[in-house]
Amino acid sequence: MSNVFIHAENLSYSYEEDGGKDKHPALQNFSVDIREGEYVAVLGHNGSGKSTFAKLLNLILEPTDGILTVGGVDLTDPDIEDAVLLEHRRRVGMVFQNPDNQLVATIVEQDVAFGPENLGVEREELRRRVDSALETVGMTQYAQHEPHRLSGGQKQRVAIAGVLAMMPKCVVFDESTAMLDPGGRREVLDTIRMLNREYGMTVLNITHYMNEAAEADRVIVINDGELLMDGTPDEVFSRREELREVGLEVPQCTELIHRLRREGISLEGDTVSTPEACAALLEAAYTKLSKS
Ligand code: ADP
Ligand code: MG
Repeated sequence: MSNVFIHAENLSYSYEEDGGKDKHPALQNFSVDIREGEYVAVLGHNGSGKSTFAKLLNLILEPTDGILTVGGVDLTDPDIEDAVLLEHRRRVGMVFQNPDNQLVATIVEQDVAFGPENLGVEREELRRRVDSALETVGMTQYAQHEPHRLSGGQKQRVAIAGVLAMMPKCVVFDESTAMLDPGGRREVLDTIRMLNREYGMTVLNITHYMNEAAEADRVIVINDGELLMDGTPDEVFSRREELREVGLEVPQCTELIHRLRREGISLEGDTVSTPEACAALLEAAYTKLSKS
């Protein structure tokens, strides 16, 4: 088993402004361990604390209570040195929802160079990193293009390249596909999966698309700032009723399997969210149709 990369123990965070003391903390007694190289989807309805967790990981927010270590760095240490913090931010990259808010330069390759340049990476090394990052996300041919003319999916891939040029160990995607059309979403998801599978990067994908979550190795569900579920996509999505109670659906494939079984139609296997499950589903539907 690989090393634990993110260790959260009874982690809490409260926003001080406007709520006062009565306000429910945004994150409460939240405990989770995420290992190096894991691909984890994070689910939860709006306001459940997903982005708060993401911001804590990058120390955009400081924990109110509890333990949080990321890559061996104790993020609750009040005396954390600036150099350590900077190095930490480099190692945990963030990709946000709106691609337009993340692109800063007028030429794609300058945009990708922005982060490492600010870290003082030397010219030659910078060139190498920018080329390699663009290559990784499949955007080499757009190096000299203007970012604002790209499609949403392409913009997000440039944003991802900008993060990769910092050579992170972990990338957190906070609803990074939410503003994209289905094609753009697929491009970004394929990129996320490749970063995990081929580069061994630890990936957290915060999403409200259940089909996306089903592609991860592990799914965690946050509800009202607390950890509600943690398991494989199959384990989590087989808890359909409980998910519904907290305002979440299951993937379409899972839902269909559930409804067909309720109708007495038998389906191979017991997975409910994988490509195999979808294949079994298709087969059952086909058999049923050819009988009627
Ligand atoms: P999610 O990303 O799951 O939608 P958030 O982490 O953004 O949820 O929010 C969790 C809770 O914290 C919500 O109740 C939200 O209203 C509150 N919250 C988020 N950001 C702020 C803020 N800047 N100030 C005060 N409350 C906030
Ligand atoms: Mg959010």
